[in-house]
Amino acid sequence: MQSRSDWSIIPPLTTEIAHTDARHAATELVRGLAARGHVIGDGRVADGSAGVYEHHDPATGAVHAEVALGGAAEIDAAVRAARDALPVWRATPVEQRVAILHRLADLLVERRADAAAVNALDNGTPVSGIDSGAYTAAWTRYYAGWVDKLEGQVVPVYGGDALDYVLPEPYGVIGAIVPWNGPMMGMGQKVVPALAAGNTVVTKPPEIAPFGALMFAELALEAGLPPGACNVVPGGAVAGQALVRHPGVNKVSFTGGLETARAVIAAAADNVVPLTLELGGKSANIIFPDADLDVAVSVAAMLGAVLLSGQGCALPTRCYVHDDVYDDVVARIVAQVEGVPVGDPLDPTVLMGPVVTDAACTRILGVIERATAGGAGELLTGGERLGGPLADGYYIAPTVFGDVDHDSELAQREVFGPVLSVLRFRDEDEVVAKANDNPFGLAAYVHTRDVARAHRVARRLDVGTVTVNAFPGMSPSAPFGGFKQSGFGREGGRAGIEEFVRPKNVVIGL
Ligand code: NAD
Repeated sequence: MQSRSDWSIIPPLTTEIAHTDARHAATELVRGLAARGHVIGDGRVADGSAGVYEHHDPATGAVHAEVALGGAAEIDAAVRAARDALPVWRATPVEQRVAILHRLADLLVERRADAAAVNALDNGTPVSGIDSGAYTAAWTRYYAGWVDKLEGQVVPVYGGDALDYVLPEPYGVIGAIVPWNGPMMGMGQKVVPALAAGNTVVTKPPEIAPFGALMFAELALEAGLPPGACNVVPGGAVAGQALVRHPGVNKVSFTGGLETARAVIAAAADNVVPLTLELGGKSANIIFPDADLDVAVSVAAMLGAVLLSGQGCALPTRCYVHDDVYDDVVARIVAQVEGVPVGDPLDPTVLMGPVVTDAACTRILGVIERATAGGAGELLTGGERLGGPLADGYYIAPTVFGDVDHDSELAQREVFGPVLSVLRFRDEDEVVAKANDNPFGLAAYVHTRDVARAHRVARRLDVGTVTVNAFPGMSPSAPFGGFKQSGFGREGGRAGIEEFVRPKNVVIGL
C-alpha cells in the first residue's frame, strides 16, 4: 500500500508494456501453478471436470495459462480430503498449529516478490500497489496468535447443582469462496482464521484469478499443514454451487456480488448451511470544508478511482464534497488522477494497472456510456479505454464524474471499475442522509478536523467500517464486514475467528 504522502509526489508517466525478464518469470510462475492444478489432499489434480479456462494476462490480453476448471467431482474429492484431515488437524497440538501458521507467514514473506508478480498476472494489480504476500502473512501471524486463546466459559446454573460449561468448537469443513480482486489476501482473511479455529477448508477461487490461492495452498503444505487441511479447487459457478450444496461442508464463507449471494443463500438452504457473506459496496467519502484537503483529495482520488483500478468492495467511489470547497477539491482530484502512472502492473513505477478481464472492461465502459448519455453527471476526466502501447490490455483511464445526480445508476450502483462519482452537499444532516440512502452498507470515509463531528457522523453512518481522515489499509485485528445488502458476518479481529467456531454447551449434574 502506498503511503498517502507517496501518492501526491508520483510524477505523471504512462509506461509501455515491458516484455522483460520480470514478465517471463511471472508467466512461468502462473503457468506452473496452472499446470500443477487443484490442490486436493496430498496430491495435485491437473484436469478439471468442468473444462478448461484460457487465462489472459490482463496487461497484454495474451493467453498465458490454461486453468483446469473444477466441477462437482473435484469439489467432492476436496471435501472428502478435508473431512479426512479434520481429526488430524484437530489432534495437532496447539503449539504445533501455532508454529505451522508462523512458518506459513515466514514463507509468505520470503516469497512476497513472487506473490506480487502472481497477483499482477492474476488480476492486474500493480506490484507497487498491494504487497499481497506481506498482507497475507500479517493476517496469518495475527490468527496464529488466536490458536491458543480461543477459550470456553463456565456458566451459572439455574435450578440444581451442576457444572455447566461452553466449548468453542470448530464447525468442521469450511467452504470458502474467495474473490478475484485479492485471491491470496482472501486466503488470509477466510482460510487462515478457519484453520486457526481448528477447521479444515475447501477453497474455490474464481477461474479468472486462481493463482494466488493456489500459491498460498502450496506454501501451506510446505509449512507443514497436514495434507487435506487446505484444499484449493479453481472453478466457476458450477464448482461454487457444488461446494455450497455439498453435504460434507459445515459452513460457507462467501465473497462476491449480491446476485450471486442470493444464489448461494438459496443453495445453502438445502442443507441449512450457515453463511458468512462479504458482498459489495458503494462507499461514501464525505469531505467537510474544514478537512485537511491534501489528505482528503489523495484518499478521494487514489482510493476512489485508482487503487485496484476501482475493483475493491470498500473503496470510496461516492465522494460528497461540501459546496464551499467543491471547485477546489474537484480540480485537485482531477489533477491527481490525471497524473497517475497507468501501465504494466509488473512495472514498479506504475500505480494503476488494467481491469481484470476484457468483459469487465466492456461492462465498465457501458456504465460510463450510459452515465454520459443519460446526463448522470459531468465527465471531467477519463471515460475511455486506453490505446497506444496499452491497447491490447484491459486498461480504462481513471475516470471522474462531477455534479453527479444522487439518484442515478452511477451514484447508486457498484461500478467495480476506476470510476469516481463526485457530488455536492451543504450540511451535515443532508450528507448523512444521502450517504445512508444506498442499499449497501460496507464502509464510509469522513474528512474533518472537528473531532465531535467526526464521532457524531461516524455514529450516524449505517455501515460496517468508518474511516476518518486517512486510509491506513485493512488491519487483521479489526472486524470488517457489511451492514444492509453488503452482507453479514465479519473478517478480521476476534469476530473473524468467531465466525468459524460454534458454542457447545456441556452440563454435568453433580
Ligand atoms: P461474483 O458474485 O460474480 O462471483 C463471486 C464468486 O462466486 C466467484 O468465485 C464465482 O465463481 C462464484 N459463483 C458464481 N455463481 C455462483 C453460484 N451460483 N453459486 C456459488 N458460487 C458462485 O462476484 P465477482 O464479480 O467475482 O466479484 C465482485 C463482487 O464481489 C463485487 O460486488 C464486490 O464488491 C464483491 N467483493 C466483496 C468483498 C468484501 O470483502 N466485501 C471483497 C471483494 C469483492
